[in-house]
Amino acid sequence: MPELPEVEIASRQLRGWLQGRRIVSARAEKSRVIRGQTQARFAALAGHRLTGIERSGKWMLLSFDGGEGLLSHLGMTGKWIRRRADEPRPAHVRASLTLEGGHAVDYRDMRLFGRLIRGKTEQLRTLPALRALGPDPLGGIDVERLHGMLARTRRSMKEALMDQRTLAGLGNIQVSEALYRARIDPQRPAISMTRAETERLAAAIGDSLRATLKGEDSPEPITYVEEGGENVFLVYDRAGESCGNCGTPIRRIVQGGRSTYFCPHCQPRWRGRAISRTGPVRAPARASVALQKAARRSPARRLRVIQGGRTSQRTR
Ligand SMILES: [Zn+2]
Repeated sequence: MPELPEVEIASRQLRGWLQGRRIVSARAEKSRVIRGQTQARFAALAGHRLTGIERSGKWMLLSFDGGEGLLSHLGMTGKWIRRRADEPRPAHVRASLTLEGGHAVDYRDMRLFGRLIRGKTEQLRTLPALRALGPDPLGGIDVERLHGMLARTRRSMKEALMDQRTLAGLGNIQVSEALYRARIDPQRPAISMTRAETERLAAAIGDSLRATLKGEDSPEPITYVEEGGENVFLVYDRAGESCGNCGTPIRRIVQGGRSTYFCPHCQPRWRGRAISRTGPVRAPARASVALQKAARRSPARRLRVIQGGRTSQRTR
């Protein structure tokens, strides 16, 4: 499934294929990929030239001259491919750009979870889908901000990192890989992460993204690992195989409906208490405040509170 590295490679390929070439004709099939938009709107890209591509997480914003834009998300099976314009369109192509010079660039998507959104570049930039995204981690991660985001949620580390507001572009693969590299239990509550652990995690995310980019970069569109492509990952899709670090079999669990892969030895089960930056978060601390208030109101209760321990618990 395409995540940040695959989308980054797709954007480099698209730049190489489209830059400087005028679009002769543009055509989109009626499909869920362009839902809510007319085919004519897509066809209006004819006559324009690409001026740039910005990637933010898993989204690509293609800008054309005249202020025209195209927002692309590859969903689960989406892929941009190139062919000679006189060759037949392959199966599952949902949109095509025919270019001057004899080539066509196709958007292919078997399962139709991808999106193509047409509009003026400046309008596309303001869409909630883009504005809600956290920072893109490829250029470096602000550890302080990440630590602050994690400290705000009791969700598991896996789920907190899958949330595109935390960092944009991480998915099932990169989250498993980064947590393995950082030796962090994927089931651990995000709020429990210390500053030092967050720093280690940030470095691991960067390392994982760069390793995937290096492993998958090619002038050809990527064959995703789910489609039988080479598995360049350390733990992803390797349940039962030996951990490269300690030899323990890699385990697969399901979190939020999605598979997580991890090494139970290198990423031991976290058994601590959730500590936030402002101090311990635990029920008894709040209970004792309530008890102290109650004690101030009632001398009889105060006595029991002073006796402390179990007795004071029972006064609630
Ligand atoms: Zn291991």
